[in-house]
Amino acid sequence: MIVAAPHPPTSRPAAEESTRAASPCRLSILGATGSIGTSTLDLVARDADAYDIEAVTANCDAGRLADIAIRHRARIAVVADPTAYRELADRLAGTGIAAAAGPEALVEAAARPVDCVVAAIVGAAGLSPTIAAVRQGCRVALANKECLVTAGDLFMREVVASGAELLPVDSEHSAAFQAIGASDLDAIEQITLTASGGPFRTWSLEQLAAATPGQALKHPNWSMGAKISIDSATMMNKGLELIEAFHLFPVGVARLGMVVHPQSIVHCLVSYRDGSVLAQMSSPDMRTPIALALAWPRRMQAPTERLDLARVGSLTFEAADEVRFPAIAVARQALAAGGSAPAVLNAANEIAVEAFLGGRIGFLDIAATVAKCLEAADRRGLLAPAPDLGTVLAIDGEARQMARSLVNQTSTT
Ligand code: NAD
Ligand code: MG
Repeated sequence: MIVAAPHPPTSRPAAEESTRAASPCRLSILGATGSIGTSTLDLVARDADAYDIEAVTANCDAGRLADIAIRHRARIAVVADPTAYRELADRLAGTGIAAAAGPEALVEAAARPVDCVVAAIVGAAGLSPTIAAVRQGCRVALANKECLVTAGDLFMREVVASGAELLPVDSEHSAAFQAIGASDLDAIEQITLTASGGPFRTWSLEQLAAATPGQALKHPNWSMGAKISIDSATMMNKGLELIEAFHLFPVGVARLGMVVHPQSIVHCLVSYRDGSVLAQMSSPDMRTPIALALAWPRRMQAPTERLDLARVGSLTFEAADEVRFPAIAVARQALAAGGSAPAVLNAANEIAVEAFLGGRIGFLDIAATVAKCLEAADRRGLLAPAPDLGTVLAIDGEARQMARSLVNQTSTT
């Protein structure tokens, strides 16, 4: 069961009475310079008095992070990359805003007491900081799906132990959360995530073999960071999202499905045993699910394009093609295998995506590399469940090494 109660107690709300908090919502944003971070800050800036920004973080873009910290009056700004510290500290000198750097500083920033942490780092790099946020027992608006893919069981145990209020930001999971409401999970026959099909939905295997990073980055509906854009093109994103849904809504693998919906208007459909199907719709703009996660159980004003169904005209749906998009089947296999298979899947995918973006492997090599890495990890006995975070991180590191050597064998340059 998702941990956020449909009607959480009013003692720790992100917003109180009408759409406005009585006292400002203390907020930290991990991954503040990214696509989700930028969308979050756009919402925050529209109602600045309603928020009190504690920490903002980024990987290495110190200049951009310093601008954000100053504009939003954060207390601390943290870069993950220690080599970016000097620039950050110089840019923040005399502002009263603290600067810090390195992985431990990131975890400390996430642990600073707040009402809500937006977890929007990309990749498994977000795992330790997001768990630190969960451990303080606040609201966690989770965009970083790789956390749940890499360490779903452990992550959800931490959520239960701390009493954190976990709200999904991923649009399909936000949609499922809304369509499920207070319903009994036993009454659900199917949760169907929608997928746009990405920029290559209609491409042949021959065309896919020659697809370039530039073409793969051009998503037809959503504007997102590079990694998730490539995941959408391979449809690994939908595989990762199935695993994410498996942990957020424990209805079992058999009741989780997907359908391709090129318009990205319907984000998820929840089918009930009485034949009813509830769907959530909105224009494809991440500010809607972010707004939900910030304001729930209330609704804030969001500046997104309003849905005009007469103008959209038609909503179409089709089955996903797992021959042209083998990443879906690879992810399903990892989910079925359980244990550390999803962590290996994620690590290998991160390395393969990076190699594709760097022009070192072809588009179809991404899913092939991940599949080979899972086989190799299985042969090495690496797929057993990880009992703790340290083991998860060790398996993640080992899988990355294995994926790197597979990339080197495949590499075209
Ligand atoms: P992005 O690449 O635009 O931004 C990523 C952020 O993480 C940046 O602030 C970057 O500086 C930071 N970061 C990168 N590597 C880091 C590291 N090693 N250590 C610490 N910080 C690091 O990514 P995004 O598109 O905003 O996606 C963020 C997360 O949200 C991803 O997990 C993605 O799957 C998920 N998500 C994104 C969207 C979207 O529309 N962008 C939709 C659904 C889910
Ligand atoms: Mg999504």
